[in-house]
Amino acid sequence: MAAGLAGKNGCRVLLLDHSHKIGEKIRISGGGRCNFTNIHTKPANFISENPHFCKSALARYTPRDFITLIESHGIAYHEKTKGQLFCDNNATEIIDMLLAECEKYSVVVLSRTHIDSVLKEPSGEFLCRSSQGEFMAQSLVIATGGLSIPKIGATSFAYAVAKQFGLKVIPTRPALVPLTFDDQFLNLARNLSGLSVDPSIVSAEKTSFEEALLFTHRGLSGPSILQISSYWKMGIPIVLNLLPHEKVLDQLKAARKSDPKKMLRTILEVLLPSRLADYLAALSGYDEQMANLSDKKIESIAKQLTAWEIIPSGTEGYRTAEVTAGGVDTHELSSKTMESSKVSGLYFIGEAVDVTGHLGGFNFQWAWSSAASCAAALCQR
Ligand SMILES: Cc1cc2nc3c(=O)[nH]c(=O)nc-3n(C[C@H](O)[C@H](O)[C@H](O)COP(=O)(O)OP(=O)(O)OC[C@H]3O[C@@H](n4cnc5c(N)ncnc54)[C@H](O)[C@@H]3O)c2cc1C
Repeated sequence: MAAGLAGKNGCRVLLLDHSHKIGEKIRISGGGRCNFTNIHTKPANFISENPHFCKSALARYTPRDFITLIESHGIAYHEKTKGQLFCDNNATEIIDMLLAECEKYSVVVLSRTHIDSVLKEPSGEFLCRSSQGEFMAQSLVIATGGLSIPKIGATSFAYAVAKQFGLKVIPTRPALVPLTFDDQFLNLARNLSGLSVDPSIVSAEKTSFEEALLFTHRGLSGPSILQISSYWKMGIPIVLNLLPHEKVLDQLKAARKSDPKKMLRTILEVLLPSRLADYLAALSGYDEQMANLSDKKIESIAKQLTAWEIIPSGTEGYRTAEVTAGGVDTHELSSKTMESSKVSGLYFIGEAVDVTGHLGGFNFQWAWSSAASCAAALCQR
């Protein structure tokens, strides 16, 4: 994105990538259809030590700007849910579009290129030594992403370059990642594997997300878990509300009056998928006739349904994380241009930077927006 826009603005651009294919993450994104933006993008959808940093770039290059670009390439798309835009056909259309833009503006693309070192010469230019030779450049844009999915080429290159030039890196962690659980909870989740609760609210400390929750043979997953994983810290519980729009306590008390002979599980089956209802009734230890349930028992059942506390044992890590939280410290970058305030001509964009989007197309929008800010600055140098 940055290379194409810089080329369009009149820069001579060389794009180096160590992978044999460009844009692999785009290819695998959004289940192969690339959730390329979110029409409701706002700064509150991003996590950063410096929450204001993303504002300028997001305002300068908006979801509408990217939609205009994909429409100009005839790419069909649709809104799936909550402002999330996906390709109708295939994520590779986005890759092809970006490469076509590069070609149109004479960007030289070298894939399968190993970068051996990057130095700043006394002249102020950057010298890049690579497996395809040495290159000199007035400006250097680092867009090598985060650590997620090393299998398809993720590396710590951006952080290493940042550190080499004396920039701070906010400690990284896997985000938008399934959480893992101890054997006791895992057994329960396995019994419920495949079951989805939609909507649910999942919270960690003061942050909550209302999205679908999925029981899997590895524990819990689904959008609500991925979202909360970006905020979750080791040792703290997550809290599940399986019935966010029901007055559960009142309903259970009312059922005790109206259906005193019915078993708890029968009442819960009205509110939840029956497999989950039966399981939770058994788990509560109170699967009795409603008439037998004291207020205290009913309160405890309602708490399990609306404030079920579970302490995850960890996350699945970078192997499956969609993004990497943390990264190059934004306090050392210009929010208008993405240029390092310490090293003239050195830029960091995209996921490498300490700006992490929520699930739903925000991470790509950050990649496009930060690229656009950087590209506009490059041609003014
Ligand atoms: C499974 C999955 C699904 C996703 N789905 C979505 C989605 O639908 N919507 C959304 O908004 N976000 C999604 N994301 C997140 C999104 O893909 C990233 O945030 C986005 O790709 C970041 O763009 P980037 O250009 O900063 O980095 P990347 O896309 O990671 O690109 C970095 C490039 O740098 C290259 N590189 C890395 N190290 C080196 C090195 N040492 N030398 C040379 N080249 C190097 C890589 O080969 C790669 O081509 C998903 C991520 C994953 C893993």
